[in-house]
Amino acid sequence: MRHSLPGALAAAVLCAMPAAAQRPMKVLDLGHPLSDADPTWSGGKAFSRSAEATFEKDGYAVGKFTADEHFGTHLDAPAHFGGSWTTDTIPVERLVRPAVCINVAAQVAADEDYRLTLEDVRAFESRSGTIAEGAIVLVATGWDRRWKEPGRYMNVRNGVKHFPGISVEAATFLARDRKVAGIGIDSPSVDHGPSERFETHRTTMPRNVYHVENATNLTALPAAGFTVVVAPINIVGGSGGPTRVFALIGSQP
Ligand SMILES: [Zn+2]
Repeated sequence: MRHSLPGALAAAVLCAMPAAAQRPMKVLDLGHPLSDADPTWSGGKAFSRSAEATFEKDGYAVGKFTADEHFGTHLDAPAHFGGSWTTDTIPVERLVRPAVCINVAAQVAADEDYRLTLEDVRAFESRSGTIAEGAIVLVATGWDRRWKEPGRYMNVRNGVKHFPGISVEAATFLARDRKVAGIGIDSPSVDHGPSERFETHRTTMPRNVYHVENATNLTALPAAGFTVVVAPINIVGGSGGPTRVFALIGSQP
C-alpha cells in the first residue's frame, strides 16, 4: 500500500508553518453601538428602542427598535445612489475582504473639511503597495472622537455641515482603477460636510462600490495586512442599514 500523499503533504505543510501564521487573531470593533443619543444626519430622531418585556417583571426580556437605514455605523448599499445592489444582494464575498487603512488624521486636524486626495492614495501606495482589486479601503480621519457630542460631530454652522470626506478624484481612482469592493470612513459621509450634490456617492455607487460611514477605531488600524468583515442588517431591498464592522488583525499568514 502506498502512503496517502496528500495527507503526508498536509502534515508536512502544517509542521512547516511559520510561527507568525499561528498568532492569535485580534478582533477590533470598527462600529459604534446604537443608541438614541447618537448623532443623526438631520438632527432629528432616527432610532428608538423600547422594552416590551423585562426579565424582572415578565420573566424574559424583549425589546423593540426602529432605525433609519443610514443611522449609526451603517452600510450604504450601491442602490443608495444608482448602483444595482441593495443591501441583501451584495455578494457576501464582497463583505469579507482584505483591507487597507489610509490615515489622514494629521490633514484633518488642520482642515475639518479635508477630503482624501488622489495624491494621498498614491503616497499610500508608494509606502504600502498597490491596493488590490476587491479590497476594502478605510480612511482614518480621527473624527470619531467627536461621536459622543453630536453637535460637534455633525458640526453645522450657518446651515452647512463641516466634517472630512473623500474627494471625487480619489474615489474615482479607487472605484474605477483599483476596483475596490468598498470604502469606509469614520465621519458621517464619504462626501465631506459642505457637499450638496454628493459627488463621491455618485462616483462610487453606480460602480457597485459600497460604503461604511460613521465607523470608529480606524486610527488604531495598521496600514495593511488585515481583513474586514462588514455585516449589515440584511434588509430585503434596503438602501443600506446599521452594520457591525470588524477588523481581523493577524489573521493572514
Ligand atoms: Zn453615504
